[in-house]
Amino acid sequence: MDSVETPNLSEDVIKKDLLPEIYQWSLSNGLIMYPPNFELGTVSIAPTTLYPTPVPKRSFQDAIAVQKAYNELYCNVSRDGNKNWLSNESSKLAGFDSEFTGRLWELYQKASKQGYRQKLRLGVFRSDYLIDKRHDEIKQVEFNTISVSFGGLSSKVGQLHNFLNDSGKYSPEKGLNFYSNEIPVSESAIKIADTLATAVEHYSSCKQDPVVAFVVQDGERNVFDQRIIEYNLLQRHGIQTVRFTLEQVKTHTFMDYNSKRLFWRKSGQEIAVIWFRSAYSPTDFKTEESWENRLILETSYAIKAPDLLMQLSGTKKIQQLLTNPEILAQFVSDETARNQLLSTFVNIYPLDDSPLGIEGKRLAFEQPFNYVLKPQREGGGNNIYKNEIPEALRKMDKKDWAAYILMELIQPEPNRENVILRGSEYYKEPILSELGIFGCVLFDESEIYYNQYSGWLLRSKFNSSNEGGVAAGFGCVDSLVLY
Ligand code: ADP
Ligand code: MG
Ligand code: MG
Repeated sequence: MDSVETPNLSEDVIKKDLLPEIYQWSLSNGLIMYPPNFELGTVSIAPTTLYPTPVPKRSFQDAIAVQKAYNELYCNVSRDGNKNWLSNESSKLAGFDSEFTGRLWELYQKASKQGYRQKLRLGVFRSDYLIDKRHDEIKQVEFNTISVSFGGLSSKVGQLHNFLNDSGKYSPEKGLNFYSNEIPVSESAIKIADTLATAVEHYSSCKQDPVVAFVVQDGERNVFDQRIIEYNLLQRHGIQTVRFTLEQVKTHTFMDYNSKRLFWRKSGQEIAVIWFRSAYSPTDFKTEESWENRLILETSYAIKAPDLLMQLSGTKKIQQLLTNPEILAQFVSDETARNQLLSTFVNIYPLDDSPLGIEGKRLAFEQPFNYVLKPQREGGGNNIYKNEIPEALRKMDKKDWAAYILMELIQPEPNRENVILRGSEYYKEPILSELGIFGCVLFDESEIYYNQYSGWLLRSKFNSSNEGGVAAGFGCVDSLVLY
């Protein structure tokens, strides 16, 4: 089959029938987000598509199949094996990006000096892909090692699209299912909660039942995405969560300075696991104290998801270096796994004085339209695209170029039109979709205790926009129908 038909709905049907269904389902089931500048109590539906996006079953399965290899790769890189490869690379990068990567690196060194009591480390990752039309293959956009989002809402949007299909809303004249193909529902909302619970189980015994801490951003709009996972953690595992921002570490927690165990101040409960849904961008560190507080969390006995070194393994620079088969082989001994990983890479160049870097600089000026220029940042809105690359580079001090990577543009087939809902507005336009696969790994120096595929996410954006961050305001949460 080439693809799947999409529902042919008139503007009138969309407005009068579909929108009320979607608003009411979303509000009933928590497919929601706070609007910009919100007050407590004012929620809106999360930006979503009207119907699921057709995705080839083979691509979907390929992306899932490679996830455990990715988890293991980043576990091995984070272990800093191969003669402290990650430390060496991070220390070099620190020199180029002193503002953020440099500070993370500095903080890691301080933490190392104090010593890590907790040997267990938790990765809650998401590997993002576009399906390239030239090879008809999944190609990796990036690998996220910190603050992966939409594990909660992704499950909800799959349920919404199933509801609309099952209740006949996509074919209002007949009232029958429009799709006979599977519209899968991502298990991420459950699997990420199960992962956090597994980490709690591995945390060595303490007097009371320990809790999981979510370190969050001040004024977070995407809190319901996080809450869904918290509720699953309590419902399925009886584990409570506490939430605080980086600024609140000293007021909301305290540490026993002998054991380094961390406690929730209000109740005295011990914190077994810290999941960072913040601390990935310079704006998350509002004051000098935020950095001190990050260090307190890092050196505590709680299991960090992620710790600083694991966070540093997720820089774009490390992604670029890992596309080198020889470097990759240092971390993945299994040849099948290695080939699987290699098949998902596109060309990525440094912009330094190495032979590959010189080639990168040439391409940046001669063929910028085939590339995207990326700094070492997370969270969307930081990249420089195509013909804007030469000018952006010219404006910079040449010595700063090495802080960037030049990545070949993946060329996805634009999808047919879909309808993107945003607040009370809707837009009918062709879209592009990015598939994210969640993966979780719990490990220490010598053993991997848990390595799992943990569900998926489809995010879509207008074909016309370069970036696809939902929270950053460019995209929406989608689901998929397999063909
Ligand atoms: P961030 O960490 O800020 O999310 P990404 O590497 O994911 O950075 O880039 C942001 C967005 O830019 C992606 O979601 C995608 O839409 C687009 N993008 C990034 N790299 C590529 C690429 N190689 N080809 C096509 N689009 C890309
Ligand atoms: Mg990212
Ligand atoms: Mg991204």
